Amino acid sequence: MSSRVAVVTGGNKGIGLAIVRALCKQFEGDVYLTARDVDRGQAAVESLASEGLKASFHQLDINDLNSITAAAAFFKEKHGGVDVLVNNAGIAFGMADTTPFAVQAEVTLKTNFFATRDMLTHFLPLIKAGGRVVNMSSFVGSQTLKQCRPELQQRFRSDDITEDELVGLMQRFVDEAKRGEHKKGGWPDTAYGVSKTGLTTLSIILARRLSKERPNDGILLNACCPGWVQTDMGGKRAEKSPEEGAVTPVYLALLPPGATEPHGKFVSDKEVQPW
Ligand code: NDP
Repeated sequence: MSSRVAVVTGGNKGIGLAIVRALCKQFEGDVYLTARDVDRGQAAVESLASEGLKASFHQLDINDLNSITAAAAFFKEKHGGVDVLVNNAGIAFGMADTTPFAVQAEVTLKTNFFATRDMLTHFLPLIKAGGRVVNMSSFVGSQTLKQCRPELQQRFRSDDITEDELVGLMQRFVDEAKRGEHKKGGWPDTAYGVSKTGLTTLSIILARRLSKERPNDGILLNACCPGWVQTDMGGKRAEKSPEEGAVTPVYLALLPPGATEPHGKFVSDKEVQPW
């Protein structure tokens, strides 16, 4: 019940697995590799064991609300909460994918924005004092922000945007994409980019709320970009290895006790980036 605990979503491969590996080496406490598929997750835990590293496993499909609430109940019951949460799970359609844009918009936003938000809704109340929350966004979300119509940019950057307003904007993008009207609505042609613009904005909103509602708990919540990383998503030509991609999220997950920043920022290469 008393041991510290770190939880990583989408931990069975790619950057998520590299984050789990780094946390096994550096985090003082139990590290949970979570994955939507039990076999893939347990195989990853075993591969870490063969390197002499001990991770625990819990099933967690962020697209399945029952899976989220079951995992949240488990961490509350077994550990009294969570110290470090890394929302790493995400998807992207390949450049050459011919799936209609309307479908790409709905499916991409579902995982990268709406399901990650469900994770935050159910796990933020479990984050212990001194906790760290890291949301894997992307530099693509920052580029996409700049390509949105100025009124949209203004809302994403504003100090008073609420979670409800953001959810409404993300839903509007999906609805407009389904009608083939997203460009008329002021959005660029990238579902992945919009999903990450939304995730970075959500991170800023939730950090603001934590500061207001739990001012003495010292929780730090940030969004980050891992860089362009060689994974199934990033492709073989990418610049960084998964281990290099894990550096910034792990830095944010392990910000030392008493640190007060960064908080509510978008961080890349361990540096706060303009939004
Ligand atoms: P991968 O495709 O290699 O891995 C994605 C991981 O997310 C897999 O473990 C996958 O599980 C998991 N996942 C997908 N959907 C769900 C779900 N519904 N529930 C639980 N897990 C899920 O991608 P990367 O490692 O490259 O990406 C990790 C994160 O980093 C993503 O959020 C991505 O957007 C972000 N990112 C990556 C960049 C890159 O260059 N690679 C650049 C910028 C950001 P499964 O194996 O079951 O499919």
